Amino acid sequence: MINNAVFRIAVLPGDGIGHEVTAPALGLLDMVSGDGFALEFAHHEGGADLYRRTGDALPAGTLAAVGEADAILLGAMGHPDIRYPDGREIAPQVDMREHFGLFAGVRPVRTWPGLEVPLADPRAGDLDFILIRESTEGLFAGRATGRVEGGAAHDTLTITRAASERLFDFAFDLARSRKSRGHPGKVTCIDKANVFRSFRFFREIFLERASGHPDIEAEFCHVDAAAMHLVRNPWIFDVAVTENMFGDILSDLGAALMGGLGMAPSADIGARHAVFQPCHGTAPDIAGQGKANPTAMILSAAMMLDWLGRRHDAPACIEAARRLDRAVCAAFAEEGISTVEVGGGDGTDAVAEAVARHL
Ligand code: ATP
Repeated sequence: MINNAVFRIAVLPGDGIGHEVTAPALGLLDMVSGDGFALEFAHHEGGADLYRRTGDALPAGTLAAVGEADAILLGAMGHPDIRYPDGREIAPQVDMREHFGLFAGVRPVRTWPGLEVPLADPRAGDLDFILIRESTEGLFAGRATGRVEGGAAHDTLTITRAASERLFDFAFDLARSRKSRGHPGKVTCIDKANVFRSFRFFREIFLERASGHPDIEAEFCHVDAAAMHLVRNPWIFDVAVTENMFGDILSDLGAALMGGLGMAPSADIGARHAVFQPCHGTAPDIAGQGKANPTAMILSAAMMLDWLGRRHDAPACIEAARRLDRAVCAAFAEEGISTVEVGGGDGTDAVAEAVARHL
């Protein structure tokens, strides 16, 4: 067990509302640290603005520096009008997932009393499941090599045994740790094995790994059916694991179940590195107006504390994660917060101040 550890956090606010949600999250991290552990923040530039100014979205020196940190906290990066010469949007956050081998994109879908959610069924107000998006390959692996030839466009989907094995083991281990806290202990593999050879391979590996985790229930679901279940009865999921592109799409659906992208945190976890960032992008339509909901960023910061605390056996850090998490739930439950993204009047500062009051 470690007391008084000092964790070095690389902070990449990025573009657009990335800056607006990073500032309050850092303020709240300051409030929960200092007792039993400390955080040292080092700010770095990266993203579409930097690319426009310098021609480099994430310089090699920055990549090396953030790789030395204990954890990386990222706002959001990209802008629809700033693109590489081949037309792709600037997305160094996606490049970082591949560079650091951040294979598990952990996207919790949680709701709690007082939160405005779109589904009327009372069970939708008490959701707690996790979507894991494989984040280093799948259809995204071919994003730089797509081609249009002779009137046809081609992109390549790649599934490897190595990435799939570690992904599924991660999912089963996560389900086991949740089971110890009262969750069902179930992993659902979301694929399209009825149509594609690549997804039959994905499912075969899932079955192989499932046999090594007999205490955890393993089941399958085709991605189209999963989309329907997420809207009709999302409470059936515990831990769901899927390919990169399917995960990209379904995690926005999951965010909608929580009331919007501004509520959805995420962690991209690898063997040595991890990046914590909200699921949302830079939201150019609301940037600079103080309307961004910072909750996803605050909850991502809490996930970072939890990950650091478990990795380094620092209980004070895990407790700080719980405090931050509880403060978010209490702020929504007790203060009737209504964020701009669900049509209310509470902007970035109002939400962050409410969370601070509950720490
Ligand atoms: P990317 O592909 O880079 O993730 P995106 O195309 O999904 O980005 P976002 O930038 O996430 O787009 O924005 C999608 C919509 O959600 C926009 O209307 C935006 O205003 C809204 N939105 C995103 N994040 C927030 C937030 N934190 N608070 C309020 N609204 C948000």
